[in-house]
Order: sequence, then C-alpha cells, then structure tokens
Amino acid sequence: MVTRKEKREMEKEVNYLFELLKTQNHFFKNLNKLLKDVDDPRHQSYITYDTEVLLMMVILKNACNLKSMREMTNEFNKEECIKNLGKLLGNEDLEELPHYDTINDFLARVNPAELERIRIDMIKKLFKKRCFDSYRINGEYWGIAIDGTGIFTFDKKHCEHCLRRVYKYTDKETGEEKTKTIYMHHVLEAKLIVGNMVLSVASEFIENESEDVKKQDCELNAFYRLTARLKDTFKKLPICLIADSLYACENVLKQCKANNWNYLFRFKEDRIKSIAD
Ligand SMILES: [Zn+2]
Repeated sequence: MVTRKEKREMEKEVNYLFELLKTQNHFFKNLNKLLKDVDDPRHQSYITYDTEVLLMMVILKNACNLKSMREMTNEFNKEECIKNLGKLLGNEDLEELPHYDTINDFLARVNPAELERIRIDMIKKLFKKRCFDSYRINGEYWGIAIDGTGIFTFDKKHCEHCLRRVYKYTDKETGEEKTKTIYMHHVLEAKLIVGNMVLSVASEFIENESEDVKKQDCELNAFYRLTARLKDTFKKLPICLIADSLYACENVLKQCKANNWNYLFRFKEDRIKSIAD
C-alpha cells in the first residue's frame, strides 16, 4: 500500500511536462501539424492565435482535469505554463495565451468534422503501435461499448434540434392535470475498452432534424448511424460490440454479421451474456 503522503512525494519526482512530451513524440508525432491544419472559420485578418494554440490549450485543460474554461485561463496564465505550452507546440516565442472567449468562439464555429479527423488519426496511431493488443477479447476482438449520455437539459427550447420529453403532473394547489416539457441533448458514444481505460472512438448526437419532425430521433436510430460510421472508419477492425439489451434485436444482429463483428449484450442484472452462437 502506498500512503497519500508517499504518493505526493512520488508525484513530486515526476516531470509531467516531460512525460507528456515523451508520449506525444512516441505516439502522436504529427499532432501539432494536425492541430495547425484544422480549417479555421475565423476572419483571417483578426487572428492573433493559430488553431494549434487554441486546441492544445483545450487538450491540456482536459488532461489537467480542469472543469471550466475560466479555471483554465486562471491556471494557465502563468509564465511557466505559457513556456510549457510553447514547448509542447514547438513554439518557443509564445508569450501570451488566448482568452477563453477567443477559444469558445473558435470552438463554436469550427466544423466538428475537422476535430473528428484528429481523433481518428490518433486512435489509428494507437492501433498501429499495437500497445493495446493484449486487451483484445479472446486475443482477437476489440471491445467497443456503446454508451448513451445526456449532455444538457433545459426548461425552455434551446434550439430546433432539441429532444423533447413531456411530463404529466398534478398541480398541488388546484389539483389540475398539467404537462411540462423538458428539452435535452444526448450523445451516443462508441468507446474502446482497454483494461481499465475507455477511449471514445466515435460520437453520434441524438437530435431532431428540425422542430416539427413527426417522430423524434432516438437512441436506436443514432446507433445505426454510429455503427455505420464506425465500420466506415475502421473497415477491417475486428470489433466486439458491447451494448445494452435495448440493442439485442434482429436488425442489429444482422448488421453485426454483415460487418463481421461479434457482440455482447448487457442484460438488466448487470451480467454480461454473449448470445453469439
Ligand atoms: Zn437544443
């Protein structure tokens, strides 16, 4: 057992920036170029910071487990941090960091496909390096879990793509039957399972095409879009899909067969059952 104090002492010895640089150089040599090559939607004449500075700051914010953009600006705006960020980007001339408003504005406008390209490139590099090979199921299949999560819930309509759920309730004062609508955004994620880590490899938003759709988008529809993209991106990867019993239906099984994928479904009691063969 390592005590907390011992852990703190050990952590003092670690040079995290060096470790990060080492990891980046080993696995993702071209990361800075990928970040730089992102198609920039901003008006070119007003730009102070290149895309790689903005994106590396967000990567570091998440790597440092900082919860908000404001916290990121406060934590990073120190001489040493700016130098470190410059080192990571191979840009020793970096003297200032962008404000989080600048980063948010860029993130709101950048085409998500530009960022998706970077994720796919990084995941493919990890497969190529074969560092996760020992985590394959039966030495063959890559376990990919399908996992739906709510991102936002609102009391009022937020945009025309919101999912809506109507609740009925009884007004305590008048005894009247009333309804309340909540507006939500959900995402379905494909997560590669490697030991005690999960890596998000594809995301599909569950959202309505427009406000007046007859039938709302649902998890199963998003599932078909997500798995089609997964197949398209990782064509020959032997995948074992791990999903809730909600997906244990004929169409899903057919799709798995057509893709040469194996499958495991989680049933209610949390047991994992394979119904393959
Ligand atoms: Zn919305």
